[in-house]
Amino acid sequence: MGVAIRLRRAHVDAMIAHALEDAPIECCGMLAARDGTVTDVHPAVNKENSPYRFSIDPLQTRRLEEQIDASGASLAGFYHSHTGSDPIPSPTDIRMMSSLFGPPYVHFVIGVADRDHPVVRVWYIQDGDRIEQEFEVIEDTAPATP
Ligand SMILES: [Zn+2]
Repeated sequence: MGVAIRLRRAHVDAMIAHALEDAPIECCGMLAARDGTVTDVHPAVNKENSPYRFSIDPLQTRRLEEQIDASGASLAGFYHSHTGSDPIPSPTDIRMMSSLFGPPYVHFVIGVADRDHPVVRVWYIQDGDRIEQEFEVIEDTAPATP
């Protein structure tokens, strides 16, 4: 397992906050990065409006991709929440995401089944399987740079 992506503490907190806000519905979103480090977390709308699955409207995906391109970053991957189960990609996730979420795209799953103890894990979805990766958190010790 290697470090697949780096991100600031504020980005982790943003994904957790989104997951808690939308629970019990699964939340989802996209991540922008530059040189392997996340630059922005882009919340999206879960078109399924479901506690068990998610999808992002293709139109919103395209708009966010354009926004990410315009900012000089690249699409780094996606995130969604599990509101009643462990943050491990489900067979449905793997089936739905295989084409889209293989490397180099990372996929974060934010587990908020226990709201007081959110669990964040990151995966590659590849060849019909999930392969856990590591992420590195950059602590916000200094004022954030834009
Ligand atoms: Zn899922």
